[in-house]
Amino acid sequence: MSAAGAGIGRASALAMAREGATVHATDIDAGALDTLAQMHENLRCSVLDVTDAGQVAAFAEAAPAPDVLFNCAGFVHDGTILEASDADWERTFALNVRAMGRMIELFLPRMVENGGGSIINMASVASSLKGVTRRCIYSASKGAVLGLTKSVAADFIREGIRCNAICPGTVLTPSLKARMAAGGDYDAAYAAMLDRQPTREMASPEDIAGMVVYLASDESRVATGQGFVVDGGWSL
Ligand code: NAD
Repeated sequence: MSAAGAGIGRASALAMAREGATVHATDIDAGALDTLAQMHENLRCSVLDVTDAGQVAAFAEAAPAPDVLFNCAGFVHDGTILEASDADWERTFALNVRAMGRMIELFLPRMVENGGGSIINMASVASSLKGVTRRCIYSASKGAVLGLTKSVAADFIREGIRCNAICPGTVLTPSLKARMAAGGDYDAAYAAMLDRQPTREMASPEDIAGMVVYLASDESRVATGQGFVVDGGWSL
């Protein structure tokens, strides 16, 4: 799995390890992986930048064929279409879409060889599901994740592969906290985020990790090609 160092990825790595899975947890943040590795004996941590094709190929070659592939890494660009540079488009699609596609390209054939498995891709409610202010290219990339997910599910269903996406709403993670602080008034940004939640509650990373565990497990064996919304009713 990718992006296991913080937020949703970290909570998911721990939740899967506690369920008894051996989790190959990766991230670009070596320090975060060091502390994660102390938290459960089932965690095997390696530094991996999923946008680096060479690193990903080497990692895929060394890793055992997985039963589950969880592509969690993603970057949130803040702004309208008029505030996105070529570099912003490239960075967003390189991480949120192309890197995810590359992980699937490398691991899927080995999962097929193994008799199948579950691929879980991190999308968002901010995508083809909901228009969200200041999330234009982020939402375009997460819409692409939903398309990628459905296509992989359709192409490989007969080979025992399931492929689903998770679409969270607002999850209180370190990166969300940093985005709220970036505007200069954390408390006002927090209040605005909370105000858009019908439940008046933000989700925690653990709320999303439960869905990751479900999609990784045989409990979800007939679920494929879907985007599972976990958003406290934001998209209602
Ligand atoms: P986050 O965005 O802060 O990222 C968590 C980890 O990703 C960090 O440990 C970071 O080091 C790692 N990372 C960054 N670039 C990487 C790279 N190139 N290769 C490998 N790892 C890299 O955490 P988050 O908020 O939990 O988001 C995780 C995923 O969930 C993202 O795809 C995000 O778009 C999605 N998501 C988040 C929310 C939310 O409200 N937080 C809502 C919907 C979807």
